Amino acid sequence: MENYDYLIVGAGLFGAVFAYRAAKAGKRCLVLDRRNHIAGNAYTEPRHGIDVHVYGAHIFHTSDKRVWEFVNHFAEFNNYINSPIAVYRDELYNLPFNMNTFSKMWGIRTPQEAKDIIASQIRDLHIENPKNLEEQALSLVGTDVYEKLIKGYTEKQWGRPCSELPAFIIRRLPLRFIYDNNYFNDRFQGIPMGGYTEIARALLDESDVKLNEDFLEFRKRGNRLGDGTEVSYKRLVYTGQIDEYYDYCYGPLQYRSVRFETEELPMEDFQGNAVVNYTDAAVPYTRIIEHKHFEFQDTPTTIISREYSSEWKPGVEPYYPVNDETNGNLYDRYYDKAREEKNVIFGGRLGTYRYYNMDQVIAEALNLADAEF
Ligand code: UDP
Repeated sequence: MENYDYLIVGAGLFGAVFAYRAAKAGKRCLVLDRRNHIAGNAYTEPRHGIDVHVYGAHIFHTSDKRVWEFVNHFAEFNNYINSPIAVYRDELYNLPFNMNTFSKMWGIRTPQEAKDIIASQIRDLHIENPKNLEEQALSLVGTDVYEKLIKGYTEKQWGRPCSELPAFIIRRLPLRFIYDNNYFNDRFQGIPMGGYTEIARALLDESDVKLNEDFLEFRKRGNRLGDGTEVSYKRLVYTGQIDEYYDYCYGPLQYRSVRFETEELPMEDFQGNAVVNYTDAAVPYTRIIEHKHFEFQDTPTTIISREYSSEWKPGVEPYYPVNDETNGNLYDRYYDKAREEKNVIFGGRLGTYRYYNMDQVIAEALNLADAEF
């Protein structure tokens, strides 16, 4: 029998940060992950001299100084600034929507000209209180930007019409009237040199980690690991899907999943940028990432991943919660159940069913650690 203070399910950022703080507080932690690697969806893997973001682009950005200082203890961050390109049919635009985008779209030069065009498009629409993503987007950016750069991409990513999606998703997209292609507004941004996996490894250094261990199987076996070892623990930190933890007793929550087609190409540079979005509904993938550009890696070949969005079903990895009203109500029922638990803490994107960025997950784990220790 092995005795632990904390059993942490999931070796992603939430679990790893919590494990680090717990170990620092003298607690004994066991971290289980059902995959064969740590770092969750932030996992990166070196291939042919390139750090591959195996589960899609992970760009670290935050305005939270505490979180920035925290992550900088575990890796050196480079000066990468995310400046995606959008391809719509044979047209190419800068993202986020800024003066470079508007100037290309309308052949104009000044912020006032762009504001006037957008304002006149918005006026013609007569949208009073935007009720969904489509109305929200239209009332923020007008018709042209919506049709060319938002509609197709969003419907591919979420697999639903924009008119059935919650408005808040689009608030992630800033609209700028200066010539500035930095996708994020945050004060700090960069990519950890050497990849995210190394951060997770450093965070988990003082904890016991067991990979290929499915907590639900472990629970069914009466808290026994695959090798038969019995485990006891005082508290559980669960970062998997909250609905799965409760055996889907109220029904499954919806998630979006992503499938990547990754290939190595015999050329130095495929697209000249880390992220290129395909905003036209006719192209089946949402974006192509070219991994070497995240860390400015100089290699004779390149690795790209085409990203296809799909509905989640058991057996594939969940990526995004679908935070619409139906799922929100369902989550509330699970949350009420979770609140009654004395010794179980739910955390991370899946445990709390929130569309969190990495920095938010880390902040949540640090706050929880502050409360616990
Ligand atoms: N989006 C869009 N066009 C784009 C990129 C993003 O309309 O070219 C919208 C879309 O609704 C998407 C949201 O912005 O769901 C957030 O996209 P982002 O790429 O920031 O999210 P990530 O997938 O990286 O978490």
